[in-house]
Amino acid sequence: MPCLCETCENVRAVSTARSRFLLCRLSATNAAYPKYPPQPVVRCDGYRARKFADERSVTHMLPLYHDPHFTFRFADDRSIPRFHLEGVEIGRRVAVYKINPDSGERLSLLATASVGEGGWVDLIEPIIVRAGEAFIAVPDSPS
Ligand code: SF4
Repeated sequence: MPCLCETCENVRAVSTARSRFLLCRLSATNAAYPKYPPQPVVRCDGYRARKFADERSVTHMLPLYHDPHFTFRFADDRSIPRFHLEGVEIGRRVAVYKINPDSGERLSLLATASVGEGGWVDLIEPIIVRAGEAFIAVPDSPS
């Protein structure tokens, strides 16, 4: 599952003996961005593609884990009628949870839906997201 932070010029990887964290440098100047964004981030208004010279080192860094969900975060207020899940097959059920944007803790179920054509998920009612808030989309396990 692709993670925007891995190729973003605003990220700094922080490694310890046992773990690796992705630190968002925008957090120093903008409260909408948590210091350690819950991964993987698949949609982010602050994303800026890293210049080519840096891409090699990023490409060769392996994330230590993959979460079976997609994280969406926004720097301004949005109404979200649909979103895209890369690589999730048509027909999979998806649960959408509001999360604590800093810790990633699940707060409440916002919606459920099915993945449609091309990985697009159309919601019955748009999700209203305020600046700095985030949600995750969690596909059901394949049957
Ligand atoms: S949270 Fe957004 S701005 Fe920060 S490093 Fe990740 S993609 Fe870049």
